[in-house]
Amino acid sequence: MNASVTVRIHAIPLSDNNGRRKCTVTPKAFAAAIDTVNTIFEPTGLRFAFDSAKDWHPKRDTSLNSLHNGGSKWWTKANAVAAKFRGEFTVFLRWGKDTDTPANNWFAYPPDTGQKKPAHAKLPHKNIDFVAVTNQSSKFGSKAGIVLAHEFGHFFGLFHTHPSWGAPESDLVVALVKKHGAQGLNGDLLGDTRPDPGTKYYKEKVNKNLCGGPASFKIDGKTFKPDRSNVMSYYFSCQPPVTMSPQQVKVIHKTINHKSRRHLIDMSAGVRYAGVFQSGVGAHALWVGDDKRGFKKKWSELSKKGLRLIDLETYKVGKARRFSGVFRAGAGGHALWLGDTRQGFLKKWEELSNKGLRLIDLETWKDGSTRRYAGVFRAGTGGHVLWLGDEWEGFHKKWKQLTNKGLRLIDFETWKDGSTRRYAGVFRAGKGGHALWVNDDWFGFQKQWNELSKKGLRLIDLEVFGSKVS
Ligand SMILES: [Zn+2]
Repeated sequence: MNASVTVRIHAIPLSDNNGRRKCTVTPKAFAAAIDTVNTIFEPTGLRFAFDSAKDWHPKRDTSLNSLHNGGSKWWTKANAVAAKFRGEFTVFLRWGKDTDTPANNWFAYPPDTGQKKPAHAKLPHKNIDFVAVTNQSSKFGSKAGIVLAHEFGHFFGLFHTHPSWGAPESDLVVALVKKHGAQGLNGDLLGDTRPDPGTKYYKEKVNKNLCGGPASFKIDGKTFKPDRSNVMSYYFSCQPPVTMSPQQVKVIHKTINHKSRRHLIDMSAGVRYAGVFQSGVGAHALWVGDDKRGFKKKWSELSKKGLRLIDLETYKVGKARRFSGVFRAGAGGHALWLGDTRQGFLKKWEELSNKGLRLIDLETWKDGSTRRYAGVFRAGTGGHVLWLGDEWEGFHKKWKQLTNKGLRLIDFETWKDGSTRRYAGVFRAGKGGHALWVNDDWFGFQKQWNELSKKGLRLIDLEVFGSKVS
């Protein structure tokens, strides 16, 4: 399974104005940690993109490098910096408050989305708009990706599985159980993450060996069995594996759609998704919201793995043009042609056609006053029907008519003509199950993708549209 919506990281490795207390974490180590985060976040459908050439922004600033989460208004400056990068997710790599010793703590907080808050984990502010981690490679070790996923969890709305921001004191743990029973240790107030006294209690009262000690134990007569693999626990030393519960995934979806976080996925959230599915088996991948360079790179990478691009999609968010693609297992000749003028594209089409390639997907968009074209080509033969420029009802009617005649939609296109939305499709002879899914938001679409995938249907065309699409 490989369906994701992209959140771009804006990493700011800090040092003092005079270059001291400098960042020793390398972009390579940071990228490796993001890879781990992406594995842990797979159930959420969010994918964090980090390109060490473009998303690593070193900065000399003693005050930011001293960032810590104590006292009052400690977030003001860091929030102001993060606010400059809408559409990106700011992560500070900083030394901390002390002049000589780098800080051990990493931190992040849920935004106030109106959610029910745990009594012992107050939010410092309605929107802490960044994540802060160490800038020292000695403290950015083998568990860095796991702890980073934990901090990202906070940023996207998750509280600890234990009741407080730090691991609670043993006295508090016992008092909470006496007062509220097992629910007193339901730190995140979610029903599918088990109550957790935290690691301090465990080490003091259960066993010094956090991972090797007993899985369950009693407090005031109640049995506890904390989930030592949960991403929002403090049992990092027992991980991997690292898990995220279905309700935690739900909280993340709710949070990313909140106004404080939504800018991060606006490239996807501002558009609607429509998909065409067909029966099929084997490897498949969906790549959403990358820029041209990243997309070309992904195309090469997946091509080498025996996947073939079968649908290309492009849309604009602000000034940035984004590319998405659907890939399926395949072999043989293929080509990707991006962003030519009409004349250049026609020439390329002829050239590739003569080499036994067929256009299977056409994309067009406006770049200033120039209309650009892109095509996905595969080895192939055979006739097809092209249905151009109808409104939705007419197009849907045609879809039914042609599918009844044994034709299958292989490419789907939509654009706006003044205030009228138009649709176009390429049909070819074909058999088997098929579905057309139009006008859902990303998470609804993703759910549909997962469900239809399980039924043996494969997405063969993806189209995104909405107010932000040019
Ligand atoms: Zn935490």
